[in-house]
Amino acid sequence: MKMKLGIIGYGGMGYWHGEYAPRAGVEVVAAYDVDPKRLEMAKDNGISAYDSLEDFYKHDGMNFVVIATPNDVHKTLTIKSLHAGMHVMVEKPATMSVADWDEMVAESEKTGQILTVHQNRRWDKDYNVMRKVIEEGNIGKIQSIESRVFGTGGAFFGWRSFPEYGGGMILDWGVHLFDQLLDMFPNTKVTSVYAKLMTVLDQKVDDYFKVTLTLENGPLLHVEVGTYAFYKLPRWYVIGNDGTLQIDDFDCQTGGYTKPRYTDNPVAEVVVMTSAGPTRMMAPRPPETKEDFPLPKVETDWTELYQNLVGVMEGKEELLIKPHQVRRVLELIEVIFKSANEARSLEVSI
Ligand code: NAD
Repeated sequence: MKMKLGIIGYGGMGYWHGEYAPRAGVEVVAAYDVDPKRLEMAKDNGISAYDSLEDFYKHDGMNFVVIATPNDVHKTLTIKSLHAGMHVMVEKPATMSVADWDEMVAESEKTGQILTVHQNRRWDKDYNVMRKVIEEGNIGKIQSIESRVFGTGGAFFGWRSFPEYGGGMILDWGVHLFDQLLDMFPNTKVTSVYAKLMTVLDQKVDDYFKVTLTLENGPLLHVEVGTYAFYKLPRWYVIGNDGTLQIDDFDCQTGGYTKPRYTDNPVAEVVVMTSAGPTRMMAPRPPETKEDFPLPKVETDWTELYQNLVGVMEGKEELLIKPHQVRRVLELIEVIFKSANEARSLEVSI
């Protein structure tokens, strides 16, 4: 029998869950929202719509809920849902502080209901291709990883413009990008954090940020998000001691990795003139001294996230998105805000 899903907050992302969760084999049965227009839309899409949370929880046979509301109410709605006997998958960011998350986890343990977070971007193709190239040792020891998303949308809409609702880019794209990198290095401590948060369009929340993380005996990680940057930079740029990787975009259509090819011609013999002087180190590399490789093919299937939750509900699997991983990301985010506020690098062990 299919697991039955209820959606709390049938906005942009709630609609997405309504449309796409069935691909993972679950049945979307009910939606609750505070906006009557969104409830009309749910009804038009064949989903029972509720304007009362209590009535929503009574929907016949509902096993679990997805919470896709603004970030400030994730905690309260999660705890209410756990106490109403629901398993919960809350949207990212799970909540806005480590203390809140600890409370949510404690309530999940107390009620015996499952609690997980929709960190769907662990299934992004670009992320998995990047990991494959690195983890297969193709470009040697990794010195630096740049993870970046740039868009041009600029101004935010609705609750995303306000700090009190959990707006801004650290709590939006940042959560995905930090989750990806921490998932890649589960046992390597972050030892320092430097964060610069800005508002390019004079908003109340960060619409641009750049964060640098040092890993213990690991690469330097750079995470950058810009919402008003009109030229694209690569989604991933990775420097190893035996090559360089570039992935241009989410779809991995362009990019590749390049490795040195050792020849008798010393590369440093080449000198180029720039307008005001010569350079040897920054000269273009002679083609015969390097070799280009295409990006590997990787198939990813985000429905695994839902299928895993169903497997856990059936007692057959362990959660993929685990509470301690969510906590680590929130801990990092707290330090990022502190670093930005104090305009200095902070020594940590995360
Ligand atoms: P949205 O503004 O489009 O939708 C939010 C909905 O929640 C609205 O319909 C609103 O009426 C409703 N709502 C507000 N307060 C409520 C309450 N107290 N109870 C019930 N409903 C309430 O926002 P969105 O873009 O859908 O974002 C929602 C959540 O999804 C956020 O946490 C966001 O970070 C997350 N999100 C995740 C992804 C992803 O890829 N994982 C993508 C986009 C958004």
